[in-house]
Amino acid sequence: KSFEELGLDSRLIRALDKKGIEKPTPVQKIAIPIILEGKDVVARAKTGSGKTLAYLLPLLQKLFSADSGSKKKLAPSAFILVPSRELCQQVFTEVASLIELCRVQLKAVQLTSSMPTSDMRNALAGLPEILVCTPACIPKCFAAGVLEPSAISDSLEILVLDEADLLLSYGYEDNLRSVTSIIPRKCQCLLMSATTSSDVEKLKKLILHNPTVLTL
Ligand code: AMP
Repeated sequence: KSFEELGLDSRLIRALDKKGIEKPTPVQKIAIPIILEGKDVVARAKTGSGKTLAYLLPLLQKLFSADSGSKKKLAPSAFILVPSRELCQQVFTEVASLIELCRVQLKAVQLTSSMPTSDMRNALAGLPEILVCTPACIPKCFAAGVLEPSAISDSLEILVLDEADLLLSYGYEDNLRSVTSIIPRKCQCLLMSATTSSDVEKLKKLILHNPTVLTL
């Protein structure tokens, strides 16, 4: 199957084309249509399998259509939570380049917990639709008054936990709880993990509704 056949927007196909990406990987073939349907998903996928685009492409497509009303929200529509600064940078670079290639009016920012709160405030002042960060940033933003939990309850449409097994083994569980406690019911949740430990199962029960489980 081609990216078109998976149901992706022509702007995304063109962007992939410019990146020299022509054919979906197995993870992408399976995950993209299900995520586009709006389902919660648990995907067991390793780094190198194309897992990042497997969630970024449908995430962006969802925001393209949500954005057509063009009323700016007070908090991000999408959170992508990652376990490390390196992955944060990597995912941010990928999403920023897709946005640019698609020429859409979306904005992504990245935050890390070592950032001064003034930088966090500046980053969020531009009202980005997409926030890529490590989980520790969220309580830090709440404490600094840079993000309002009530605004997130209104705005959040999609939450991605990337490398969820590492998110837990790096001790982010308490931070994740401060996010999961305010996820609105309408929010689509995607959990990507290389392994399925009992911790990942716990996280799955905590945040996902009737998820489709993809083992690849
Ligand atoms: P990931 O598994 O997300 O860490 O991606 C691994 C690498 O594969 C990244 O450099 C991607 O840009 C690249 N990639 C992702 N999907 C495809 C694809 N369908 N065709 C070729 N390369 C891809």
